[in-house]
Amino acid sequence: MLFSKEVTLDNSWDIIVAGGGPSGCTAAAAAAREGKKVLLIESTGCLGGMGTAGLVPAWCPFSDQEKIIYKGLAERVFSETCRQMPHVAVQKGYWDWVPIDAEVLKRVYDELLQEFGVTVLFHTQVCHVDVADGRVTDVIVSNKGGLYAYAAQIYVDCTGDADLAVWAGADYSYGDDDGDVQAASMCFTLANVDPYYFEYHARLHPMYPESPIYQIIKDDRYPDIKDLHLCDALIGPGVIGFNAGHIWDVDTSDPFCVSRAQMKGRQMAKQFRDALATYQPDAFGSAHLVNTAPLVGIRETRRIHGLYTLTAEDFVERRSFEDEIARNCYYIDIHQRPSKEGEQQTEKKNINGLHYKPGESHGIPYRCLIPQGLQNMLVAGRSISCDHVVQGSVRVMPVCLVTGEAAGVAAAMAAQDHAGAVAQVDVQTLRRKLVEYGAYIH
Ligand SMILES: Cc1cc2nc3c(=O)[nH]c(=O)nc-3n(C[C@H](O)[C@H](O)[C@H](O)COP(=O)(O)OP(=O)(O)OC[C@H]3O[C@@H](n4cnc5c(N)ncnc54)[C@H](O)[C@@H]3O)c2cc1C
Repeated sequence: MLFSKEVTLDNSWDIIVAGGGPSGCTAAAAAAREGKKVLLIESTGCLGGMGTAGLVPAWCPFSDQEKIIYKGLAERVFSETCRQMPHVAVQKGYWDWVPIDAEVLKRVYDELLQEFGVTVLFHTQVCHVDVADGRVTDVIVSNKGGLYAYAAQIYVDCTGDADLAVWAGADYSYGDDDGDVQAASMCFTLANVDPYYFEYHARLHPMYPESPIYQIIKDDRYPDIKDLHLCDALIGPGVIGFNAGHIWDVDTSDPFCVSRAQMKGRQMAKQFRDALATYQPDAFGSAHLVNTAPLVGIRETRRIHGLYTLTAEDFVERRSFEDEIARNCYYIDIHQRPSKEGEQQTEKKNINGLHYKPGESHGIPYRCLIPQGLQNMLVAGRSISCDHVVQGSVRVMPVCLVTGEAAGVAAAMAAQDHAGAVAQVDVQTLRRKLVEYGAYIH
């Protein structure tokens, strides 16, 4: 069916950022800081993506076990969020696995974007991209006002799924060699948890042999809890955020599939609440399920084919790059099917779970943000150009924050000096600017 309709076009923008997760927020703020007129389009009603609407309850480590390495706007967002959470802010040098209060984080992002003058359009979904000669000419969005077109010189795709890049014709990969992506999880929050028992007695994580998860997965009363994944974080007084359970085969390009996953996730959250009340009654006997995430937690979808593809070997070799715009040290953290555990992940060896030693990190090249064949688009966040294995590392929020900031500065430079061609950006000038803003790169 061919669909055509006249829509209003607003072409007054320098830069359009699609998606307001961690990468989109720093991309938009960084581009606006360069003096550009920036529109950020977000389909939910808040900023933060998985860290807020997805209720992910903790930051992955910000340090390389010696110092913070995700700096610039990333460190600012992190520090400001910690400052407003008294139980974490007081502990100096506490940089790793810090809990997140989603309400605090939403406001921190709101204030960041307001400070730099970014215009935010909530409840608006980018649903189509027009392209001519390798350049995106406009995006079509839908919201309660109907359909509209917005145009800019540069587009930064921070949708997490590379929606814009793929709709504009960019090539991409999906999952491992079998097309399997990591499991999704529905994060949720329990309140009215006894803080004394939780803090001093509950040992929920499966790394503790006494974790109740070993009994829960054998108990037929909780049929959707099938594996050991159970992480918790104290996010407020008597309030615990959970990142627990696995939902398989969730493809975000299939809205019916995502809809089923949302419902299944809500069932799982209720089962977790009841199971914890049964097996850890001292802490969770009166626990109340406050909320489940509006967005089911998606760890992996499309990865663009960029001008460079970061590989597992780059991770293993701790490679640096002349055009690196960020460094990363998070371990390879792939939530793979239990049946695939122990399988060869690379030609060299299985590196799922590989941790660096203190002080070690690898570089992320600017080329990983540039989709092949598109002149005026950058991609930041979890769908940058990388292989399936290393995506298990670079997908986490501290990394998305720093790739977002780099994309924002680069987008502004491309709009200013390079006739809108992102590949023409002078990468050493970009790197110098990022360092001036605090970035940690080699
Ligand atoms: C269950 C789970 C647990 C995790 N645990 C941790 C953890 O403990 N610590 C950690 O640091 N990281 C963790 N991560 C990883 C991390 O949260 C995500 O990978 C990261 O948030 C990705 O950032 P992003 O900016 O690429 O995308 P997202 O955070 O997914 O944000 C994308 C945004 O774009 C919007 N959007 C999408 N499509 C469109 C469109 N077409 N139009 C308009 N808006 C659109 C979405 O609504 C969303 O707000 C976890 C992830 C999951 C799923």
